[in-house]
Amino acid sequence: MKIFFVAAMIFFLLTGAAHAEEKKSVWQPVIRVGLKSGVKQISLQVSAPCIMINAAKGNILKKISAGEKIIVDLTEPDVNSIEILSEKIPLKDLKVDVDGKKFYGGLGVVKEKNSLSVISLAPLEEYLRGVLSKEMSPSYPLEALKAQAVAARSFALKNRGRHVKDGYDLCNATHCQVYDGVVNFDSIDRAIDETRGQVLVYKEKLIDTNFHADSGGMTEDVRDVWGASTPYLVAVREIIQQAAPWIVKVTAKDFSARFGENFGDVKSIELSKMTVGKAADDRTSSGRVKSAKLIGTKKTVTISGSDLRRKFSLPSTLFDMKLDGGEIIFTGYGRGHGVGMSQVGARELALNGHTYEKILAHYYSGAKLKKLY
Ligand SMILES: [Zn+2]
Repeated sequence: MKIFFVAAMIFFLLTGAAHAEEKKSVWQPVIRVGLKSGVKQISLQVSAPCIMINAAKGNILKKISAGEKIIVDLTEPDVNSIEILSEKIPLKDLKVDVDGKKFYGGLGVVKEKNSLSVISLAPLEEYLRGVLSKEMSPSYPLEALKAQAVAARSFALKNRGRHVKDGYDLCNATHCQVYDGVVNFDSIDRAIDETRGQVLVYKEKLIDTNFHADSGGMTEDVRDVWGASTPYLVAVREIIQQAAPWIVKVTAKDFSARFGENFGDVKSIELSKMTVGKAADDRTSSGRVKSAKLIGTKKTVTISGSDLRRKFSLPSTLFDMKLDGGEIIFTGYGRGHGVGMSQVGARELALNGHTYEKILAHYYSGAKLKKLY
């Protein structure tokens, strides 16, 4: 009897779960992405029948057939803003060709004094297809791509409205996330579909999902890069790390010149030796350079690790530096600011059997996955 009861329960749970899976929601947010501004007109073509509406009043201005080429210049006196939306099919299935480049979803055009601003009305999951390949190689393992998909989706929603004064949510450049329209990669489509609607939250609030190319062995506490601390952006050691050292050499003459005439010629450098994961007075908890003292023939200069990185285009602030003969030699690990998820680290974890949930939990301490839709 008891066995029968347990079996019945298992059957109920399994079929119940399968049923819930079938009822996948079709709703998704639409993100307004700024594509271009300052143009006089645009030429466009839609992949399916569309309506052009006056965005201020909501009335239909005209219908556009699939494949029809039209020019939008908003020269009509009473129309300051239009939207082009699909007439019969879901917005996610529409593609609009704008001046020869295809974008997902609909399109908004706004008149600004003497020019136009063009906005993609992109369903979020489609928008992600456009951005993901710009952020991580489509050849990366699926679980790493899934972690990146969740990070990019969380970023888009957390920063939605960042450009509200410009009339859209996000720009299409590195300031937000690079979005260049339609791209097709099976691996990326799969990573997005398998994490549909999932974001990272901390205490029920969307988190900042910073990421970088390679931590070099340990990520950096956000406090040591941008000042304010955040509980889920703390320094964590890599579980698996392929060491990829880098080296940058600068002649002592060129090096000295970057500090002005008052500095003179570099005589020596004071910086403690780097050990990944070991703090020092002049190093952060991950071992990155906080500051270094440069002794010149005329003056001593104390400079931060990030200023050194900027001045000499160093891949990261995780480095040793020495004066050797006529050269300053920087040797280090990692690429990028080191905050949040390491993409190389995510790849290594995925190659070693870690799921995207594990990867995200590793880099964003204490953050939880939440399915919004
Ligand atoms: Zn932006």
